[in-house]
Amino acid sequence: LYDRDGWLWHDGEWLTWRDARTHMLTHTLHYGMGCFEGVRAYDGPRGAHLFRVVEHTRRLLDSAHALDIPLSFDDEALIQAQRQCLVRNGLTNAYLKPTVYLGAEGLGLRAKGLSVHVMIAAWDLGDYISPEAASIGLRALTSSWARHHVNISLCRSKTNGHYVNSMLALNTAVKAGFDETIMLDPEGYVAEASAANIFLLRDGVLHTPEVTSCLQGITRDSVIHLAREVLGIEVRERRITRDELYIADEAFVTGTAAELLPLRELDGRHIGARAGAPPPDKPIAEASLTARLQRLYHRVTRGELGDDLQGFAGWLTGA
Ligand code: PMP
Repeated sequence: LYDRDGWLWHDGEWLTWRDARTHMLTHTLHYGMGCFEGVRAYDGPRGAHLFRVVEHTRRLLDSAHALDIPLSFDDEALIQAQRQCLVRNGLTNAYLKPTVYLGAEGLGLRAKGLSVHVMIAAWDLGDYISPEAASIGLRALTSSWARHHVNISLCRSKTNGHYVNSMLALNTAVKAGFDETIMLDPEGYVAEASAANIFLLRDGVLHTPEVTSCLQGITRDSVIHLAREVLGIEVRERRITRDELYIADEAFVTGTAAELLPLRELDGRHIGARAGAPPPDKPIAEASLTARLQRLYHRVTRGELGDDLQGFAGWLTGA
């Protein structure tokens, strides 16, 4: 893991992968107070580009601000650093992880004068999810763990410590033989998957939970734009109950790394069975809305902008 080539950006300087160490008393390691992003880069017709890096960087700065962590880098500096991270590492199809964390100057909740650091790491993503796996989709279990509540955590902030909750939920489902988990908010309404937002289709209308408990996903936002503006599909953001997922015609999850994956089965119910969806172990129908949105999302992220997608050129930032 450590013994490999590569460069990481750290507070405006470049560290080799081998030298990218931090002190054991790093505050964020002990209490989880920090924030991060997951950003994707793709190989496009004009070389590598970052997808919606402006929105990801804004969310990183918003997360830090909400946590009251002052940063000495602005949007422009951090976007530039992410571009350089791709170029310097010779990456095109990549995943980037900018992270804001607190230094090791003190321990305890009252620690004062902690330094604030920003790092950016980037990896080649390879064939992260094969087209076959993306077409078969996920079997999920509703979690017994509730997702964060707005008065317990900052749900809009991508805070490191929040992910303990996501991992408890995901690991329980994976140990029970499922691919994914669906988390409900503390009142029992559908929130999201372990690290992805959720959508359902019923009678030609797309529904997705309003942004209270769930993260304000950037893929979620991209899918809402594509559905409304390219396909003319109505999208409603509102409270959703678990049984609405059971009786949906289609359902899918969205996230930067996973992109858009069909949710085929939830708690043993075959989603869309009554609407004629193929069984959960077979590819989804080409004509399904999920497959149509997958194809559009695939094209827009890879910069394959035909006439229908010209309006989204601003989502791509060349490296
Ligand atoms: N929810 C959570 C908890 C996440 O960690 C992520 C991944 N960032 C998402 C949703 C999806 O967000 P995005 O589309 O911005 O990657």
